[in-house]
Amino acid sequence: MDKATAKKEIKRLIKIITYHDKLYYQDQKPEISDLEYDKIFKSLKSLEQIHPELVTAQSPTQNVGGFAAERFKKVTHQVPLLSLDSLFDVEDITTFDKRIKKDLNKDQIDYVCEYKFDGVSVVIKYIDGVLINAGTRGDGYIGEDITHNIKTIKSLPQKLKGKRLPKELHLRGEVLFTLKDFQSLNQKLIDDDHDAFANPRNAASGTLRQLDASITAQRPLTIFCYTIMHHSDDVIFKTQIEAIKALKSWGLPTGNYHPIVNSLDQLVKIHDDLEVTRENLPFEIDGLVLKINSIEDQNKLGTKARSPRFAFAYKFAARQEETILENIDIQVGRTGALTPVAHLKPVDISGVTVSRATLHNFEFLAELDARVGDFVKVARAGDVIPAIVAVDLKKRNKKAKSISPPKNCPVCGSSVIKDKSSYFCINTHACPAQVKWNIVHYGAKRALNIAGLGEETVDLLLNEKLINNIADLYDLTLEQLLELEGFKEKKSKNLIEALQLSKERPVDKQLFALGIREVGEQTAKIIMAHFGDFESFLTCSEEDLQSIDGVGPETAKSIKSFINNSVNSKIIKRLQKVGFFKGVLKKTKATKGFGDLTFVLTGELKQFTRSELKEKLEGLGAKVSGSVSKKTSFVVVGENPGSKFDKAKSLGVAILNEDEIVEKMSL
Ligand SMILES: [Zn+2]
Repeated sequence: MDKATAKKEIKRLIKIITYHDKLYYQDQKPEISDLEYDKIFKSLKSLEQIHPELVTAQSPTQNVGGFAAERFKKVTHQVPLLSLDSLFDVEDITTFDKRIKKDLNKDQIDYVCEYKFDGVSVVIKYIDGVLINAGTRGDGYIGEDITHNIKTIKSLPQKLKGKRLPKELHLRGEVLFTLKDFQSLNQKLIDDDHDAFANPRNAASGTLRQLDASITAQRPLTIFCYTIMHHSDDVIFKTQIEAIKALKSWGLPTGNYHPIVNSLDQLVKIHDDLEVTRENLPFEIDGLVLKINSIEDQNKLGTKARSPRFAFAYKFAARQEETILENIDIQVGRTGALTPVAHLKPVDISGVTVSRATLHNFEFLAELDARVGDFVKVARAGDVIPAIVAVDLKKRNKKAKSISPPKNCPVCGSSVIKDKSSYFCINTHACPAQVKWNIVHYGAKRALNIAGLGEETVDLLLNEKLINNIADLYDLTLEQLLELEGFKEKKSKNLIEALQLSKERPVDKQLFALGIREVGEQTAKIIMAHFGDFESFLTCSEEDLQSIDGVGPETAKSIKSFINNSVNSKIIKRLQKVGFFKGVLKKTKATKGFGDLTFVLTGELKQFTRSELKEKLEGLGAKVSGSVSKKTSFVVVGENPGSKFDKAKSLGVAILNEDEIVEKMSL
């Protein structure tokens, strides 16, 4: 692969990893299995090894991943919580063993084996034997304070007992649900009309991040402690096994699985055996952790940016079963995205019946070349949404039918357009799959800020057939509203008034409110600043749109097909009739030279989160970097800034506060 291709590929992989990191850490809704994730991560790493000059500070290989959620108190980890590098096969493990022996100049190494728990990693702090606080891993440096929830775990002592207790002890453990507890928790959630958790790990994560500890206390979490992260110097351990024994003697739950092996053959055997016997364990594990037993050797090997050199995860293969792909149907999401979904002949994959699997999008489906009637391999690793990983071509039936993207939306029959790797129904304002969410978006604070037009009211108005789309909102009368359940005089009047006020909103907000795909708040602003008035926008060509800085070909295409859709254009006309799109935005050069600037953000902001500000700046063409250097144009500093603030000062980089950056961005 030449350098230019490698650069492109690295960029692509980083994008994928960042996307899945967010799903995993923030939304707790992973779409791919850990194994798939690890594979993508590994490809990125090996590409970066070949082209070290292409490694950037933004690369996920350079940090430990994960985000600390915003609403929890933060805890700063004294020792960063690293994640383990993954090994997948005998070849990997052989290379690893050879390297360790070479680095340590030894012929034989003792490895301690531990379960690779599929749970949530936490750090717990004891001072004088008393549990003081606990935090999640977060980004490896700063996590969320979950002390109140950790204290509900019955098997975890709040006070340690025994001899040789260090004054200060920070230890790392994994919080999880046993399969039995997980099943009864989910059953209870379903009985109470709540959503069930996708897998035990999500359940543990969701439970640990409860703000209300009394809810956590009703859910029986389990914990295993496995590493001493830091302790005051009054106690010294020579080996990992010694440390584990100490943890146990102080009353901490460590489990009983810590075999020591010292040859490659033993390593492979113990891994392969465990891959079979794990089915009998009361909880989920997804591999074997190997740690060098000697603490002295551990320290000699040290750590890399993201992971230690003395410990590895030797993963299991994803659980797979073969079954028949019985059908592929197409779902239309709230954004109009068409998603192919596989219907499978129900198959049991280690205790869970799987009958559906995601196919992500049509590009993925085409690459996989799965056809209705095919025999397919279905994987369920770490219990995430099952996925089809392969097609058995040898067993393909002549009648197997491939499914191509439909020309029309399966819900409303409108035409469909392709945008990046997905297909979308363009009938934004009349497709039943989309219409509700478009009305909710229309009234949202960031759009037209129509107080009283929340999801519930939109549901009510649609169900009572008072409206079918956003333009119908302006035909609503006070009398109609008064007849609705829960609508008294004041509430009804307020809604009518809020609707009237929406006509006065700035024209770029009105454009944003239309819900044209790819036209976010910032893009709407850039577009209206370019055209000035709405009529010029409506009559512009795709080329006109593309000529605007910050509007790409996909966006231009999306806008034109939106306007050309007859339902949409009728709605726009009706809105114009009641007084919409009259405002004029002063024409300005949209990017204001942001394209040459690099920003670094630190501290807590008042008006938006850091990621929101980052998005805004990037929308203006600026770069936002994670670290301060001489090349940084501005450091934006909020409350309680971190070390980046000090670095900016020492390098003499210009500093902006929140008000200053807002002013700078305003067009
Ligand atoms: Zn549709």
